[in-house]
Amino acid sequence: MPRNLYGPDHEAFRESVRAFVDRTLKPRGEQMIADKVIARDIWLEAGSQGFFGLNIPEEFGGAGIDDYRFNAVLAEEISKFTAAVGSCFGIHADICAPYIVHLGTEEQKQRWLPGIASGEKIIAIGMTEPSGGSDLAALKTTAVKDGDDWVLNGSKTFITNGHQCDLAIVAARTDPAKGAKGISLFVLEAGMEGFSKGNKLDKVGQPESDTSELFFENVRVPADHLLGPEGMGFIEMMKHLPQERIGAAIGNVANAKQILAETVEYAKERKAFGQPIGQFQHNKFKLAEMVTAIEVAEAYVDDCVAAHSEHKLSPVEAAKAKWWSSQVQCDVLDECVQLHGGYGFMNEYRVARAWKDARVHKIWAGSNEIMKELIGRELGL
Ligand SMILES: Cc1cc2nc3c(=O)[nH]c(=O)nc-3n(C[C@H](O)[C@H](O)[C@H](O)COP(=O)(O)OP(=O)(O)OC[C@H]3O[C@@H](n4cnc5c(N)ncnc54)[C@H](O)[C@@H]3O)c2cc1C
Repeated sequence: MPRNLYGPDHEAFRESVRAFVDRTLKPRGEQMIADKVIARDIWLEAGSQGFFGLNIPEEFGGAGIDDYRFNAVLAEEISKFTAAVGSCFGIHADICAPYIVHLGTEEQKQRWLPGIASGEKIIAIGMTEPSGGSDLAALKTTAVKDGDDWVLNGSKTFITNGHQCDLAIVAARTDPAKGAKGISLFVLEAGMEGFSKGNKLDKVGQPESDTSELFFENVRVPADHLLGPEGMGFIEMMKHLPQERIGAAIGNVANAKQILAETVEYAKERKAFGQPIGQFQHNKFKLAEMVTAIEVAEAYVDDCVAAHSEHKLSPVEAAKAKWWSSQVQCDVLDECVQLHGGYGFMNEYRVARAWKDARVHKIWAGSNEIMKELIGRELGL
């Protein structure tokens, strides 16, 4: 089905992202997997292409574009190559940068945004803790006022970009008596005394992304590292999560669509019983079902992107896009593995890696159960 979401400017931008993928990411794909990290020079190259500063105002080193469709193009093209790079870049530019753009003081924006836009300062966000991620309001990391400073204690886990981050937005409890209204956000800088990082976590999929624990032991944080008003951290996270969810949904659809296209080609070439496996009716129907599922998901996600570009996307619409697209992605990739037979289980095949990479999409950015909880609440249940 023809898509009518994008215009010539978006398509021109798509070409520049594709060129970056071909020139910079593809030749380094195996190395990134072996190193379990995206090398610094790749971040810098992406920054120099303007990929991290799309929505950062020009005076702070960005392009100042207020059109989420450019973010969507970037997420699509990177995620087609690998979900892991899509998630690391997404956390940096699509999720963390907006917190500073929307909540930062003039001085904070001057201090942090140019480095984020250029890729020199990699940023992470620490919400999830070892004791739980779904119930964000129950987080245990504390920040206690001491003179003009705050003293942070606690830990975060599963933090994307956590190992190599230069900056981390950290949610901490500043008023234990106030529940969700007692949570605030801080920006920590790597090297602050008492702020340490764990090893890169050993994950089932997405090996290229660095995922780490963060530890805070009496970290003395100056008052001017408080991001946004004290006590508003939970509310701000709720406001920013829809963008994280629609970003995830864009990547889910793009990645599944790409791997399915590669699987269709495989099904045309691979022969069994003297004919291409795609011509067996069972497989032909499976492929037909998958193409349909992806196009239907894409149409909904495109509508969400259009709505978000006009600042009209609701949290529940984002939740629907996130859970549905991640389920479709996992279902499709599982069938794609099946169609590849034994090769589908071999790490050297993109389909095998994509299948492993996809699983986390039902868990992160708010698990699919939490998405359904949000949708159910809107139904008055
Ligand atoms: C690779 C990776 C990268 C990540 N990156 C980041 C990051 O950059 N920053 C960050 O802050 N977090 C990050 N996360 C954490 C992620 O967001 C959490 O794992 C997720 O929110 C779930 O939290 P949890 O793991 O503590 O599971 P839990 O909250 O313990 O949930 C366990 C299970 O119970 C279910 N459950 C919980 N509550 C309910 C309910 N009310 N109704 C029904 N079911 C429920 C959940 O859906 C889940 O299936 C990442 C996770 C992974 C795996």
